[in-house]
Amino acid sequence: MREYLKFYIDGQWAHPLEPKTSEVINPATDQVSGRISMGSAADVDLAVKAARKAFASWSQTRREQRLDLMRAIQSEYDKRQADIGAAITEEMGAPAALANGFHVQLGAGHLATAIEILKEFKFEERRGHTLLARDPIGVCALITPWNWPMNQIAVKVFPALATGNTMVLKPPQLAPYSAQIFAEVLHAAGLPKGVFNLIQGAGSVVGNALSTHPLVDLVSFTGSEFAGVEIAKAAAPTVKRVCQELGGKSANIVLDDANLAANVAGATGGMMVNSGQTCSAGSRLLVPKARMAEAIAAAEKAASEVTVGDPTTEVAMGPVVSKGQYNEIQRYIEIGLAEGATLVAGGPGRPDGLTRGCFVKPTVFANVRNDMRIAREEIFGPVLVIIGYDSLDEAVEIANDSEFGLAGYVNGADPQQCLAVARRLRTGWVSINGGFDFNAPFGGIKKSGNGREWGEFGFHEYVETKAMLEPAPAAP
Ligand code: NAD
Repeated sequence: MREYLKFYIDGQWAHPLEPKTSEVINPATDQVSGRISMGSAADVDLAVKAARKAFASWSQTRREQRLDLMRAIQSEYDKRQADIGAAITEEMGAPAALANGFHVQLGAGHLATAIEILKEFKFEERRGHTLLARDPIGVCALITPWNWPMNQIAVKVFPALATGNTMVLKPPQLAPYSAQIFAEVLHAAGLPKGVFNLIQGAGSVVGNALSTHPLVDLVSFTGSEFAGVEIAKAAAPTVKRVCQELGGKSANIVLDDANLAANVAGATGGMMVNSGQTCSAGSRLLVPKARMAEAIAAAEKAASEVTVGDPTTEVAMGPVVSKGQYNEIQRYIEIGLAEGATLVAGGPGRPDGLTRGCFVKPTVFANVRNDMRIAREEIFGPVLVIIGYDSLDEAVEIANDSEFGLAGYVNGADPQQCLAVARRLRTGWVSINGGFDFNAPFGGIKKSGNGREWGEFGFHEYVETKAMLEPAPAAP
């Protein structure tokens, strides 16, 4: 049993001002795995004031000082990788190989990237007789979701730190353990007190107190559209910057010249990674309509090869994060059946042999129309929908016919044609034939939000531009 009953405020582990705890459930077993304290507005106030106080000196540190500290964090993070991986498996059910692998590596990758960018980042730039400064914004509230818990923390904390901001992190109630270990890493690295603070608790209490706090200058939020809108509304009266990284229903287009079977297999397996709980998942697979039967055969085979079970063992897929999420996904599977989509794999209920835990069958629907709810709404589970297209223009039209605009995927044999299709997609991020880059900006348009994280673009979220205008040189 884990007990994380203290918050990290002003460089110390502190008891909550108003004692209240909540149980954390292991989604693989339905059993209580530990307890956390639930913060109040009073705890938030303490943390924000500590961050405000620390801002005066942290914002004035030199690049080299911040680089030294970030390197110290890197060495502490490396020491705790196994602890972070185990925590992620326990809190949100990612299989051990995934949690210790990609989950942990994403945190390390963002840290290494932030260090490289900080070495060169232009905090000042001269344009004519104006000197532009990129100043830290101030106190940042960082509100994160449970699905890739370490990635979401890393992608906010490291750029905020590197650019001279101070912060309060509010991790998700469903996945609080890895965040607690992350705070231990920062403490061990010797971060000055007050620069980083952590308060656990409910979004409606801790998140809301951060969003409304007059001393918070920016809220960077990743999560659902609903909470994103609530935060923007709550933050409006204090005129703070709100960065929203929200959901998606991204298209994965397999072009006619691509190896269809291999791409469909890859897309199906990819959809099941992290139990489909990935905002940028290619959850709408677009294939040439004439080859739907071929796609169905490939998807059926690939889905049948996805092993599901105890995430501490060697399985491809663990449970989804919670009973609530399980029920929501089951509801969508029923909706897909009622809408008349062809069930290719999976379906309602738990996989055979699993009698407890939030396990969902790797599910694929084919012959899906883009106006069906299973094609329009984010299911956030291991459910892939396959949609047929007749022409390239139609593929692009279907891909763009979505309220979301987070990611896109284009797969084909001709790189130029892939790029031409990518250019037409109305999203913030497109991966061509599996492309991946820590330096590429990540974020969405439309209902997927307005922020850009990762790499140098992530730094720009945490700076304000200041212009210092000097007299124009006298004419010769
Ligand atoms: P969620 O919105 O329920 O919670 C996210 C965080 O916001 C949690 O810490 C929660 O406690 C907090 N919160 C909830 N209500 C709040 C409020 N009123 N005020 C302040 N804070 C509040 O989302 P979730 O279920 O944890 O995550 C899943 C969602 O996140 C999906 O929609 C997914 O697509 C999205 N997501 C987006 C990205 C991206 O980069 N665009 C990445 C990962 C996840």
